[in-house]
Amino acid sequence: MKGVFFNEHGNINNIQIGEVNDLRISPNEVLIETKFSALNHLDFFVIKGWPGLSLQKPHVIGADGSGIVKEIGSEVSTIQVGDRVTINPGISCGKCYNCLSGNQVFCNFFSIKGEHEWGTFAEFFKMPEINVLKIPNEYSLEKAAATPLTFLTAYRMLITQAIIKPGHIVFIHGAGGGVSSAAIQIAKLFGATVIATTSTPLKVEKTKKLGADYVINYREMKDYTKYVYIELTKRRGVDIVIDSIGNVTFNKSIRLLKPGGRLITCGATTGPISEINIANIFWKHLEIKGSTMGNQGEFHAVMQLLFNSKLDPIIDKIFPFEKIRDALRYLSDEKRFGKILIKIS
Ligand SMILES: [Zn+2]
Repeated sequence: MKGVFFNEHGNINNIQIGEVNDLRISPNEVLIETKFSALNHLDFFVIKGWPGLSLQKPHVIGADGSGIVKEIGSEVSTIQVGDRVTINPGISCGKCYNCLSGNQVFCNFFSIKGEHEWGTFAEFFKMPEINVLKIPNEYSLEKAAATPLTFLTAYRMLITQAIIKPGHIVFIHGAGGGVSSAAIQIAKLFGATVIATTSTPLKVEKTKKLGADYVINYREMKDYTKYVYIELTKRRGVDIVIDSIGNVTFNKSIRLLKPGGRLITCGATTGPISEINIANIFWKHLEIKGSTMGNQGEFHAVMQLLFNSKLDPIIDKIFPFEKIRDALRYLSDEKRFGKILIKIS
């Protein structure tokens, strides 16, 4: 089959398209003919590699994907050949205490599709049956590929970790990113007031259309924390901050919070090291929580909201398979707003 792979860690230039070995499925697995794959920042991290990551080469990347079931293992009972499906990209053993307690992200065998095993940027990919979800006939395969990783991540951050309530004020950095644009929609659906930041006038307009109540262009307003505290929240501060940016925003996030507020972090696209004024944390009794991906229950819950059109992914561009390098470059482009897909077949 054709796949997007690398033989050596590095950067986008190490990415190749070509023939890779066909996949064989285990009795509990499903083989899916890929229709669309979606890009995530995770793809960059896998291409670059990290200490301790030891992959068999060639390695096929890609975490999100949708398609048609081509083959099922002998133990598979809930999915049939021909089904239109999407996947939960979080893979775990499914049997340990953590998995059975809804904490599969703590499973010793937890990984995201495309991290340790071959991903979705290929003509076929395989998944354990428990990660495969049938999609309604009227739901598009484009949207089905665009949603899982980012909407699942944002859903767990807001619902499980931040315990969002109607009336909360939620601050979301970098509205053009996949997790952030999902978080804006979820926070509005659950009755919150949303303040978001982004980087260009065009993206300010798009963020407002997504439902954000207040949008700040952080290029024009460098120190927006005072403005948010005094003007927008009338010296109250915000209840929840969603931060996937890391180094550049982390201190601002802490300053933005009201006493007792919650900062939820799921990533650090500008770097993971930051100097923090610890006094702000203990004086304000802040909670700082990490979050990555989500469990199967959260996956099914957020996908139902998507299937019922309560939430809707923003798809920015769809690139053909052959233009994968252009697609990866566009992921870091300031103009990007929403998900980038690759059309596989
Ligand atoms: Zn487990």
